[in-house]
Amino acid sequence: MNIRNYIDGTFSDPLGGQFLDNIDPSTGNAYGLIPRSQAADVDLAAAAAKAAFPSWSSLSAAERSSWLMKVSNAIDAKLDTLALAESKDNGKPLKLATTVDIPRARDNFKFYATAILHDAYETHDMGVNGFNYTLRQPIGVAGCISPWNLPLYLFSWKIAPALAAGNTVIAKPSEVTPATAYLLSEILDEIGFPKGVLNIVHGLGAEIGAAIVAHNDINIISFTGGTQTGKSISAVAAPMFKKISLELGGKNANVIFDDCDFKDAVNTSVRAAFANQGQICLCGSRIYVQRGIYEKFKIAFLERVNGLTVADPLSNEARIGAVVSKEHMEKVLRYIELAKEEGGTLLTGGYRVKLEGRCKKGYFIAPTVFENLPATCRTNQEEIFGPVVTLTPFDTEEEALTMANGTAYGLAATIWTSDLKTAHRMGAGLHAGIVWVNCWLLRDLRTPFGGVKQSGVGREGGFEALRFFTEPKNICIKL
Ligand code: NDP
Repeated sequence: MNIRNYIDGTFSDPLGGQFLDNIDPSTGNAYGLIPRSQAADVDLAAAAAKAAFPSWSSLSAAERSSWLMKVSNAIDAKLDTLALAESKDNGKPLKLATTVDIPRARDNFKFYATAILHDAYETHDMGVNGFNYTLRQPIGVAGCISPWNLPLYLFSWKIAPALAAGNTVIAKPSEVTPATAYLLSEILDEIGFPKGVLNIVHGLGAEIGAAIVAHNDINIISFTGGTQTGKSISAVAAPMFKKISLELGGKNANVIFDDCDFKDAVNTSVRAAFANQGQICLCGSRIYVQRGIYEKFKIAFLERVNGLTVADPLSNEARIGAVVSKEHMEKVLRYIELAKEEGGTLLTGGYRVKLEGRCKKGYFIAPTVFENLPATCRTNQEEIFGPVVTLTPFDTEEEALTMANGTAYGLAATIWTSDLKTAHRMGAGLHAGIVWVNCWLLRDLRTPFGGVKQSGVGREGGFEALRFFTEPKNICIKL
């Protein structure tokens, strides 16, 4: 697959003529080229998006909805092709891409296509003196920058509300996983999507990502990625008074009380720890278990973890696929060494898995569990973003809350208890934007999504995203 930029409704190579290799992480082999675009390509995309804004933003909500539904239906029609491309590009099990990633991308477009049909403006009545109504108007050109872990899923989670709200878009997928974004541009072309409304530019974050953030004609930035990148984006965008939404890293606590539904807590905690090789910002990588069930939980958890098959992502039995790149694999393996140096007891995993045949050079890591690490050590503080978790016992609710809140991050947390009062107290006390009780990753697209502290600024999801991608304007009428 040789990927091209999609600017102003036309496929093009980067102006500088430079390309990068696209690597399949399950084999370690390059299987295509990616444009290494530069600021000049972003200029072209920005000009196209700016020119398309007046006509796109003046379409009725019903007309925009109809275009987004066409995109959603086309994703559905190509679900298997997109899932295969996602699995190959990212290393995730094909089953996961088929049942989660691509259906969710389809649903993101559908959700915002329908949400704008049910939107309403606020009014504030001043009695005999007058009244106010608040228009929510699109802002202009939105820059949408997304990461590699859930490529089309997160790409569409930004693009769909930006377009639905009436903005035009320049979108940059991660250079590590560009395939499904490219296939999306093919879909746009096939359905005759209005030119210049959605422009997809490929290249490195430090080059075109930075050029998008700094561009004078791109008025709003929606970013999902690492906390350090988020900081550098803020430093550029804030003095330019751009509206920014930052969905950043996480180091999420999974707190399991003695009175939990044991079987459900074990099974779901395994999924929360290792889904997508632990490369989901919401993964529960710090598992705190109340002392009364700690040993029993540990045995059951390890039994389940040892039953997870690390295999070719395209095979039916794969529960753990490849991590996304060689660099990322090396980073995760360094964290495993760090955990040992910090005195952690390795309970299972801790090594690179070498498969036979097609995947013999692939980037696979065994699901890894440590215990006996203090809550304050680096392993428990820094985002590893791989299949590595820690188990830690606790005695009291206060102790659990202190440890759960004791990192710089605050994206998500999970609580397992059958006591409603414990759930309410913990839910209120946890420093996190999302708290799951007796479940994990149970998502309702209408709910606000995002983190506190170094996990981000702003919220995506539901009408929050439509609010982000619009500017409120109050109109006051004197009677
Ligand atoms: P990065 O921050 O490295 O990259 C994210 C995106 O930003 C990529 O498209 C990247 O391009 C681009 N980028 C990199 N540098 C810049 C820059 N200076 N200016 C503008 N854009 C830039 O994150 P990863 O791709 O490594 O993703 C993993 C991170 O994402 C984890 O920390 C994870 O927690 C977080 N994440 C957060 C989520 C949330 O909702 N809170 C959800 C999912 C992931 P390129 O890849 O081409 O360099």
